[in-house]
Order: sequence, then structure tokens, then C-alpha cells
Amino acid sequence: MENHDVIIIGAGPAGLSTAMRLRELGVKDVVVLERETKAGGVPRHCGHFGFGWESHKRLMSGPKFAKRMASAANDIDIRTSTTVLEFTMRNSLRVHSSKGISDMSAKRIVLATGTRESSRAAQLIGGNRLPGVMNTGTLQQYVYLKNQKPFSNPMIIGNEWVTFSALLTCRHAGIKPVGIFAEEQKLDAPWFFPLGAKFAYGVPVQTKTKLIAIHGSTRVEAVQFERNGQRNMIACDGVILSGKFKPENALLATAPSNIIITGNALGTVHTAGACVVNARALAETIAKDLQ
Ligand SMILES: Cc1cc2nc3c(=O)[nH]c(=O)nc-3n(C[C@H](O)[C@H](O)[C@H](O)COP(=O)(O)OP(=O)(O)OC[C@H]3O[C@@H](n4cnc5c(N)ncnc54)[C@H](O)[C@@H]3O)c2cc1C
Repeated sequence: MENHDVIIIGAGPAGLSTAMRLRELGVKDVVVLERETKAGGVPRHCGHFGFGWESHKRLMSGPKFAKRMASAANDIDIRTSTTVLEFTMRNSLRVHSSKGISDMSAKRIVLATGTRESSRAAQLIGGNRLPGVMNTGTLQQYVYLKNQKPFSNPMIIGNEWVTFSALLTCRHAGIKPVGIFAEEQKLDAPWFFPLGAKFAYGVPVQTKTKLIAIHGSTRVEAVQFERNGQRNMIACDGVILSGKFKPENALLATAPSNIIITGNALGTVHTAGACVVNARALAETIAKDLQ
């Protein structure tokens, strides 16, 4: 079995920063495992501005931030297209890569697997199962990585910052959302975001409006929503379910109690820059602990 000082699962901002700081502190035998084909994590497909303030003291787009992080880490052993399947023993992992399935172990293992938005199933939305219903992250992969436009006039659901990230992604692709609906009383985003949506982009934002069901025969044709006890339909050709983040921590089911976690896998959604700062601090503790 392959043995290392530290294995980090996930090459997003948190995983890469942990690895880079460990290397700076003299811990050389560090391996980062990443299931995607490239390192960089979520910022790779967040084509809009707003990344890096806490870590680099300047703002840049997600892809630029991701590229910067990945190139700063270019002398680290990052194994892409490598998915961690489970923990097999206290400090051992089973991984899948192009070489097949193998086991690896390390003195310390760090989980930096990030978060994901809640799926339609988790949000208990009724109606037909149709293509064209997706989270913001999936939309961004279509738009920024594959240059595709999955719909023309979707409804955006959500009340968080990421809801407006979905709007910016739509704008970038020439998609005109029919509206932003949130079941919550208030938005969990700066007050001027809905004003910008309405006056700059012509997209109305409505709170206290709950998505009940998605309708259509072969693709989305309308959504049914409830507001003040009244149910109505509105025509649209897609639905973007934004936010309601859950940590990507399925691996915890098999993880030992001494697992180290960093970044958004901890369960709270922070900015990418904040994840970098926190991960660097964590690396210092790991390096001391290994001495
Ligand atoms: C739509 C959207 C917009 C955002 N906008 C902003 C913004 O404007 N500014 C900002 O600062 N932040 C923004 N964020 C937040 C920012 O992206 C996160 O703070 C940051 O990516 C968290 O870094 P992380 O390393 O914890 O996780 P991630 O970036 O999610 O990286 C986790 C990595 O782990 C990998 N992984 C997961 N499971 C496994 C496994 N089993 N095996 C191997 N690899 C695995 C994943 O493929 C991924 O590459 C946005 C997030 C989203 C979703």
C-alpha cells in the first residue's frame, strides 16, 4: 500500500492551500486527491467576479482565482481524476483512478471536499421529473466549462448570495430568467442585490413564494407556486435550484474519529478566500503535530 505523511481529499481552495502551507513548513510528502480532471474546485466554473479578497487582497473571477491557486501548487503531487471511495481503516483510503481501485494510507488525512447545493429530491418539490432542472453549480458547468445554454427563460429559486450568482451566470449566457422566487420571508443577501436584479436585469425578486411543483411533458413548461395561500402557475423552460448548501461529507460515514476537516466541508459556506486563510492555519497545526 502507498504511504504518505499527509493525504488531502479535494483540490479546491481549501485542499490546495493546506497542501501549499504544509510544503512551506517543510512537510514534503503530501498528496492531494481530486475526482475532477483539473484542480481548483468550485471557483473553476464560477465565471463571475468576487474571489480572493481575504487571501490575495484583490478580487478576481472564479476561473482566474482557481488557475492562480492551481499554478501556485504545481509542484505538489495532485492526482486528478481520482475519487476517494471510502475509508478502509483508521488512516487508510480506497481510491478509484484510471489505474483501477487501490488503497493508500497517511499519517494524517484531511477532508476538503466542499459543499453542494440541495437537490430537487431533498427539497421535496412535486410534479414531473424533467430535464432542465439543476443547481447553480451544474448551470455554471454548462455555461462556463461547456459553453452551452440549457434553457432560455428559467425560474430561479433561492434567497442566498449564490441565487444572484445564478442570475449573473444566466446573464453571461444570454439567458433571461422569468423571476427569482424565495419561500423565506427575507433574502440572505445584500439589500441591493434584488434591486440590481430588477432594475439592471429586469428580473423580479419575490420572497414568501414557495415552489410547489414543476410541470411539463418532455421538458419544463411551467412551475406552480404558492403565495399568501393562493396557488398559481408561471411559464418557464427550466428551474435553477440555488443554495441550501449541505457539506459534501458522504465519506464521513466511513471516516475514523481523528479525521481532519477544512474548507466548506465543515458545513458552513465561507468565501473561497476565507477557506484559504483557514486552511493555511490548519496546516500549521498539522505540521506541528507531525513533528
Ligand atoms: C455558485 C457558487 C458561487 C460562488 N461565488 C463565490 C464568490 O463570488 N466569491 C467567493 O469567494 N466564493 C464564492 N463561492 C464559494 C466558493 O466557491 C467556496 O468557498 C470554495 O470553493 C470552497 O472551497 P473548498 O476547497 O472548501 O471546496 P470546493 O471548491 O467545493 O472543492 C472541493 C473539491 O473536492 C473534490 N471532491 C469532493 N469529493 C471528493 C472525493 N470523494 N474524492 C476526490 N475529490 C473530491 C471536488 O471535486 C472539489 O474539487 C461560490 C460557490 C458557489 C457554489
